[in-house]
Amino acid sequence: MKISKSMLTGAVAAIGILGMSAAAFAESHGAKQQFITIGTGGQTGVYYQVGGAICRLVNRGTKDHNIKCTHTTGGSVANINGIRAGDLDLGVAQSDWQYHAYNGTSPKTFPDGKFEELRAVFSVHPEPFTVVARMDSGINTFEDLKGKRVNLGNPGSGARATFGVVMEKMGWKVGDFALAAELKSSEQAAALCDNKIDAIVFTVGHPAGTIKEATTSCEAKLINVNNDKIKELAAGADYYSMTTIPGGMYTGTPEDTETFGVGATFVSSTKTSPEVIYQIVKSVFDNFKRFKKMHPAFANLKEADMIKNNLSAPLHEGAIKYYKEKGWM
Ligand code: GLU
Repeated sequence: MKISKSMLTGAVAAIGILGMSAAAFAESHGAKQQFITIGTGGQTGVYYQVGGAICRLVNRGTKDHNIKCTHTTGGSVANINGIRAGDLDLGVAQSDWQYHAYNGTSPKTFPDGKFEELRAVFSVHPEPFTVVARMDSGINTFEDLKGKRVNLGNPGSGARATFGVVMEKMGWKVGDFALAAELKSSEQAAALCDNKIDAIVFTVGHPAGTIKEATTSCEAKLINVNNDKIKELAAGADYYSMTTIPGGMYTGTPEDTETFGVGATFVSSTKTSPEVIYQIVKSVFDNFKRFKKMHPAFANLKEADMIKNNLSAPLHEGAIKYYKEKGWM
């Protein structure tokens, strides 16, 4: 086909309307730029912020490495499934679900069996299993949740899946709750404060926007989750541990809250090229001070812990390359 002058004028006008520079248009239509997608979690959680922060660091270097990064909102289980399906390049996942996906040890959550191509990239912040109850709900202990209106979390979130494990340990069924909601984390604070539910159960890093919203928009408090069954559950696996949410972090809860928790991790698969993972890891660790300031849940992160703690799948080749260059392994 011969390209006429009027066709060219039309294309230039279209570029103008789309608000793209001609250079950006040419680049996005060339072979060079690579778009990658990171699976994160609901907008008021921590994953979304972490994913956004990493994308910003990566996108600052687009002119050097030609990688452009965006992020989505599903949660741990959806992220791992998205990576497996090839829809996501990497994602954030709780340490328990990273373990089960790689080892094929939770057929209920991952019916397709072992995900042997799953790779760990690095770990990030701790995620305590967090219960927030309305002050007027009559919920004072974890056991009091039974019979109440509770948000279990959205299907696809690691939080919902972990609550499933806890319910089994406690001998609870979904039908034991007066209402078992499966709201997204971004909807749960409003539901709590509109008195549509009595409590939120969410496995998340702290401080989390959704918990701040719940505890400042209405009277609500954090509940200890530290009975013997929970302690037994936590002691039974490396991807769990007992932990504390510091008192005073949220309005209404001046005391420490004792509970169990997991760790947030970044995962990918052998399908994602070592070069892409290398560039992402480099963007994070070359700008580590800046990265730590991107969310208060990152304040205590240390490089040496991040490359080994909570990682049960093998490290991705692209990550190993960077860690070796730094002399960390
Ligand atoms: N741990 C949660 C999950 O996997 C997400 C927490 C967050 O959004 O920060 O579903």
